[in-house]
Amino acid sequence: MTASAYPHLLAPLDLGFTTLKNRVMMGSMHTGLEDRFYNYGKLAAFYRERARGGVGLIVTGGISPNRQGWLLPFGGTLNFGGDVLNHRRVTRAVHEEGGKILLQILHAGRYGYQPLVVSASNMKSPISPFRPRALSERGIEATIGDYVRCARLAQRAGYDGVEVMGSEGYLINQFLCARTNRRLDRWGGPIENRMRLAVEIVRRIRAAVGPHFIIMHRHSVLDLVEGGNTWDEVVTVARALETAGATILNTGYGWHEARVPTIVTSVPRAAFAAVAARLRREVGIPVVASNRINMPDDAEALLARGDADMVSMARPFLADPDWVAKAAAGQPERINTCIACNQACLDHTFANQRASCLVNPRACHETELVYREVSKRRRIAVIGAGPAGLSAATVAAGRGHAVTLFEAGDAIGGQFRVAMRVPGKEEFAETIRYFGNQLAQAGVELRLNRRASREELQMAGYDDVIVATGVTVRRPRIEGIDHPMVLTYLDVLRGARVGKRVAIIGAGGIGFDTAEFLLHEPQAPLPVPVSSWSAAWGVDLTVQGPGGLLKPEKPVPLRDIWLLQRKTTRPGAGLGKTSGWVHRASLVRHGVTMLAGVQYERIDDAGLHITVGGERRLLAVDNVVICAGQESLAELMPAAASKDGPRFHKIGGAALASELDAKRAIREGAELAARL
Ligand code: NAP
Ligand code: SF4
Repeated sequence: MTASAYPHLLAPLDLGFTTLKNRVMMGSMHTGLEDRFYNYGKLAAFYRERARGGVGLIVTGGISPNRQGWLLPFGGTLNFGGDVLNHRRVTRAVHEEGGKILLQILHAGRYGYQPLVVSASNMKSPISPFRPRALSERGIEATIGDYVRCARLAQRAGYDGVEVMGSEGYLINQFLCARTNRRLDRWGGPIENRMRLAVEIVRRIRAAVGPHFIIMHRHSVLDLVEGGNTWDEVVTVARALETAGATILNTGYGWHEARVPTIVTSVPRAAFAAVAARLRREVGIPVVASNRINMPDDAEALLARGDADMVSMARPFLADPDWVAKAAAGQPERINTCIACNQACLDHTFANQRASCLVNPRACHETELVYREVSKRRRIAVIGAGPAGLSAATVAAGRGHAVTLFEAGDAIGGQFRVAMRVPGKEEFAETIRYFGNQLAQAGVELRLNRRASREELQMAGYDDVIVATGVTVRRPRIEGIDHPMVLTYLDVLRGARVGKRVAIIGAGGIGFDTAEFLLHEPQAPLPVPVSSWSAAWGVDLTVQGPGGLLKPEKPVPLRDIWLLQRKTTRPGAGLGKTSGWVHRASLVRHGVTMLAGVQYERIDDAGLHITVGGERRLLAVDNVVICAGQESLAELMPAAASKDGPRFHKIGGAALASELDAKRAIREGAELAARL
């Protein structure tokens, strides 16, 4: 493949007064670093790496124009001259690498998780405990003034422009839609009034910053909530923003309170490109496509079709700062692909923790997790080619160590190889592809179908042995657990025959995944086409009615499934904050029965006998599937450290099976390999 494989993606974009070097934008992503002035050095290092990797335009995480607009108490600001110095560290770093960067101005409105919140009207959002105060007309004028001051300070801090966040249900969106705007003054009522805030902000920023400063507006083109805007309204607003002085229109899809997923891994790639394409036909300024774009082939195809002028990707730049450089070098297979899991980025943000990335633990830790070239080459054996072992092997070899990776199976990937068979988790295959190429690139000697013994490892002259042998399925002690109807999730995901009525023991992440797997025809096309996905979730990509919502299609369940747990908490309560609700909603839609507080009595020819709510019940199922967690597999570890022979280390599931997750496995592998 040559660099010309992506002619549209790599073409410059002339904005008249400035030129972007390609059509790739790193979209806004809250890292948590922007909230504290003492973290701006780390923030600058984070953006420096992305600019060095060749991205055409970067947008920062959201910065509120005032205190009422804070997403969280004491969030990041650019309200005073003193803040300018912190932000200059960021802009200088990006400019030194030849990049361009916009400051995102984000007023959270009623989504603010703090008591000062304001909105168009005093209606509480379903996802926040704080009832907002309706802004007075004076308050609105002051807020516009705050946006303008923030943009001016951004200009002083050296930013190339600002992005005004007008979508995702934040303040501007709250004014734009009748759902949240019940005002009777000149800021409410018909769309001409509801859009006044958005338009005045852009108009007055333009007047204040002059013509040679990028103003991007993130426009909500598909609200995906009842009481959202119609397509006519979306276009009316877009044209008014263009007239007011916007340079670029970015597109936004779905309010945070929408019950339609827009970014999780089960959303098909580039699912919303058709909506951006419709907007592009209505305006004269560049339009940016966004959401679930993560690889160059899809981005190139989208641009070649003329759906948009640029593509925005936020999380893919956490996963790989060199995304553009690798595409430009004609090496897309080397990209560490964002798998849209949200586990280390958005789930962290919502827990008020610093963001990172499951597949790239260096993200937002660039100054702390450093892979230095080694001065003394060590011989290292890594046992197990699951996520932990792959991470350790590639980082250690990348630093210059001589690494041999032993894998008992015939392929790399471990639990990811199983997870990628779950419908909606196809992206996990990309991580295996990435690591496969990294092994070759870093010169790791890979030995498949090779089970190493402890004695052999001790005798072979290694300096270090990293035990990453993962986990084995936990078999709960239930009478009849050896009955032929009992399968493990590994049996099921590897293709065992399963009947029409199934009980799943264990409602953790794997229980949910197994239920999802069993609800789909094995021969159904994967990934799910955009048309099937949008019909299933009730998304009208032509935005005929308010918010682009339709009645979701009712699925015909393939099986009767019972998903069981002993705890009395709601099944799925422990799943990821930003993705768990999608898994739950999917199973509910397919009629899966979820039972909590279950006591397992026995399994026999009649099925699974349980007690729930004090009542004995028989689930007359064809199969019982065990998803009851895992136990560590670490028999290679010596009982005690010895002075002679290699040092043994254990990581990932081999070290701790409870709360096993790939995020910890990959991070532990990288951290250990960075220390050796
Ligand atoms: P898990 O989340 O720990 O769930 C294990 C389930 O088994 C629980 O429902 C538990 O509930 C039950 N259980 C535990 N011991 C049992 C016993 N002795 N008898 C009967 N039931 C028992 O583990 P997992 O589902 O295997 O997932 C492993 C890890 O993979 C998770 O921690 C998660 O990080 C990751 N993962 C996440 C996702 C996702 O978020 N979508 C998907 C897949 C995997 P009770 O004790 O209440 O019965
Ligand atoms: Fe993407 Fe998951 Fe990394 Fe977030 S944590 S950037 S969703 S791979």
